[in-house]
Amino acid sequence: MTNRVYLQSLRQPTVEQPLRILMSACLTGITCGYDGSANGEYPSAMWFLNQPNVRLTTFCPEEFSFGAPREMCDIHGGTGADVLDGKARVLTESGIDWSEGMIKAAHKMLEIAQRQEIELAIMMDISAACGSQVIYDGNRFAPEKKYQIGAGVSAALLMRHGIHIISQRDYASLEIVYAKVDPTYVIDPSRKDHHEIDWYRNYFQLSN
Ligand code: SF4
Repeated sequence: MTNRVYLQSLRQPTVEQPLRILMSACLTGITCGYDGSANGEYPSAMWFLNQPNVRLTTFCPEEFSFGAPREMCDIHGGTGADVLDGKARVLTESGIDWSEGMIKAAHKMLEIAQRQEIELAIMMDISAACGSQVIYDGNRFAPEKKYQIGAGVSAALLMRHGIHIISQRDYASLEIVYAKVDPTYVIDPSRKDHHEIDWYRNYFQLSN
């Protein structure tokens, strides 16, 4: 089932039966980013904080394993799914192999998601842990930094276990969720998900 179809099928949450969302902690303003800050404020994600019929669970995989502040890390030689399968590695800027800690954190996030019976995850795209659509391909500080289509380590594990993930940049999908949470919300049909924007389609040379 595609994410859009799944989102359309979500029930109408109530205060008594709130929508159970798992969110990258930094998206809620928690200062768990690599430099000890939150990764900026994303109104698209912050909107959920004050909804009485949403039960938000937050988790930062990298902080769980490495604390904050910490080094920046990226996936080398593949995607998060490849890291889970032992075919790619997560390396820090200084070359330390964080693969094991990233896999451990992914399993912790999955455990939380399953225990909380999470219905939807909203995660920070591009991250080596939380990215769901786009991640760096190797070192983001390389002179010729590259992106690849794929998920980070935690997102890949959640997906493998059937958890639907959207990112803070999937504006069309978010519109559907907003309208589920607030029935008075009027969906803006002009919004696009990250994989639909010009940058994504041009960068990955996808035909329109
Ligand atoms: S690991 Fe995820 S939650 Fe933690 S700072 Fe990075 S993107 Fe945010």
